Amino acid sequence: MSTIFGPVHSRRFGVSLGIDLSASTKQCNFDCLYCELSPMQAITQQHDITPVKVILADLTQALTQHPDIDVITLTANGEPTMYPYLDELVDAINILKADKKTLILSNSASLSDEKVFNTLLKLDEVKLSLDAATHDIFHKIDRPAEGIEIAAIIQAIESFSHIFTGKLFIEILFVRGVNDTAQEVSALNQALMHVKCDRIDLGTIDRPPAYAVSGLNFQELYAISQWFDPSLPIHIVSRTHAAATPSSYSADEILTTLDKRPLTQEDIEALFDESSKKRLQTLINENKITHIERSNVLFYLPKQNSERKRQKSTVNP
Ligand code: SF4
Repeated sequence: MSTIFGPVHSRRFGVSLGIDLSASTKQCNFDCLYCELSPMQAITQQHDITPVKVILADLTQALTQHPDIDVITLTANGEPTMYPYLDELVDAINILKADKKTLILSNSASLSDEKVFNTLLKLDEVKLSLDAATHDIFHKIDRPAEGIEIAAIIQAIESFSHIFTGKLFIEILFVRGVNDTAQEVSALNQALMHVKCDRIDLGTIDRPPAYAVSGLNFQELYAISQWFDPSLPIHIVSRTHAAATPSSYSADEILTTLDKRPLTQEDIEALFDESSKKRLQTLINENKITHIERSNVLFYLPKQNSERKRQKSTVNP
């Protein structure tokens, strides 16, 4: 079985070749309620380990077949940072990757391990999950292996974010009735206010989950996005938009809404009815609304808001 899959096209990360660091079986230090793999007790160490040379041979062959990809993504049937030779593998990939970027999709559990922390610093892009910020909800949603504590994870994410020079993305996955309360979002917000990152993606369940839980609809996710501090780079992932019901917004409401939280084209398609979209276009034509790009995603926001942000960044680079 090859350890490489793809290319996979993702609007958030570009065209990617994935490396599965646990190709034969699920090996994870979490047992998340929402996992799209089978439920399985969380473990702390991989027992089925693919040799580095096998992965590098597969990757070399795949790069010959797909020379135009943007990113090499380290992932797993489970948690990729549990791969014991990750550091050696990342060093080898950095030598052969040429102009490709490297990305890891991690659940953040091992980031407080100094070796993992230092290895992830060598990547171009890192996506860290943070589904909860309190002990009880963390244990309820992510069901970690013994000894993994959310306080240590949050501390490690904060430290990492201030040292890492690549692009850092945080992902929060919401499960109905578990981490979607104002109290938990307030704790997440407080933790994230100390994290320096390029984007915070809010998502929910969109594939059959390991346990009997369900996701939120777009409106609920949008309401949650409003609970975060407006300075945070919140982004609702696009696949949750489909079932939304559009509403009518006056020109003033559009300006206020975008001032509080910049919206993507997908957000606008989901939230605005046709006449509101025309009002938005008029505001764009009148130069009252502009757009900015944050790591491959375009956001609309009021012109005044963007100028405020520019002034702030001139004062505090
Ligand atoms: S961290 Fe990922 S692979 Fe592990 S249980 Fe959670 S969703 Fe599944």
